Amino acid sequence: MNAYYDKKTIRDIEARGKKVLVRVDFNVPFDEEGKVADVTRIKMVRPTVEYLLNQGAKVILISHLGRPKGKVSEKFSLLPVAAAAEPVLGRPVFFCPSLDLKEVKERIEELPEGGVLLLENIRFHAGEESNDPAFARELASLGDIYVNDAFATAHRAHASTEGVARFLPGVSGFLMEKEVKSLGDALTNPARPFVAVIGGAKVSDKIYVIDNLLQKVDKLLIGGGMANTFLAALGHNMEDSLIERDCLEWAGEFLRGPAKDKLVLPVDLVAAESFSPLSYTVIAAPGGLPAGWRALDIGPQTAAAWDEIIKEAATVFWNGPLGVFEMENFAQGTLRIVQAMANSRGFTLIGGGDSVAAVTKSGMEEQIDHISTGGGASLEFLGGKILPGIAALLDR
Ligand code: ADP
Ligand code: MG
Repeated sequence: MNAYYDKKTIRDIEARGKKVLVRVDFNVPFDEEGKVADVTRIKMVRPTVEYLLNQGAKVILISHLGRPKGKVSEKFSLLPVAAAAEPVLGRPVFFCPSLDLKEVKERIEELPEGGVLLLENIRFHAGEESNDPAFARELASLGDIYVNDAFATAHRAHASTEGVARFLPGVSGFLMEKEVKSLGDALTNPARPFVAVIGGAKVSDKIYVIDNLLQKVDKLLIGGGMANTFLAALGHNMEDSLIERDCLEWAGEFLRGPAKDKLVLPVDLVAAESFSPLSYTVIAAPGGLPAGWRALDIGPQTAAAWDEIIKEAATVFWNGPLGVFEMENFAQGTLRIVQAMANSRGFTLIGGGDSVAAVTKSGMEEQIDHISTGGGASLEFLGGKILPGIAALLDR
């Protein structure tokens, strides 16, 4: 196996009596009253934290929250997250309000057995995002071992995601391990047929993902806003649909060349008079939209055909809504694809911020085999990029 996918994990280290720095993703959403609105991200790292504590380690959690841009800002403090983490982790979570090295060291020394320490937002320090080696070295001096369990930030080379692992032995936590295994298997050793479904607004964002996945899959289904650019490249008049003119040439060459036998495009679309939840709609074939209308979802015939393909697949990866799912009248296509994945016999994977939001909204999360916690990170991974936060960990 490619060493990049085969990293040491916390099972490969001796943690007893060690101070373990664990990079987590506690970048949780807040409600209007400033309360933590969803603790899913905290729940996801519980197995890692519990395992390390059971091994007799001192656990020091490091996370970012929002984009404070290297400055202390109360609005982005992790203090409320420490409180929210206590019931989830089922133990006291102590909070270190300062990133001052001396103070953090004292707090770590004082940490009682079974206690967990969460440091203040690591992005309050300018050295985090610039991956300042001096800051990374400082961070490393706080512990004996580094564990990365924050797949969602693994595509960033920051001090706490990459730099620190230059100075400490780094291994993956259970969440990171599961992400790398699920996505890595799909890329290197997928059960076949392997089908990818790609949607979303813009093709320009995802050309590298489409290019890389095409080499791996047996079928590539393209819907959502980006399908319009491919349909236009085939010569269809797409009226006022979202089309990226500067991608037309690439799309045309892609369709005629490498994608010829693998790419599947919508055969019908939900056409709307306006971009509105109250708009009139009709089902139209590509090229058959009423003048001045736009395609905002895949049509029922397309959904039915894709349902068949997905049901028969042994591996299915989906990223990108197939329509403007935020509006009820354009959500059907996306819902039907989620449903098809839920019913598929194959191993099903979903990645992408909006895609995950769509599955959560559908209530079918339980029936999907792997829902990636990394929006941008999962796309970069499947696009064939090396994620610095993974690369920095020890090879097995
Ligand atoms: P993800 O976050 O899962 O990677 P993207 O950010 O690429 O997904 O795309 C999601 C967005 O694409 C949604 O906001 C959705 O409204 C939009 N979208 C999907 N289909 C269309 C379409 N036909 N026209 C315009 N926008 C679309
Ligand atoms: Mg998105």
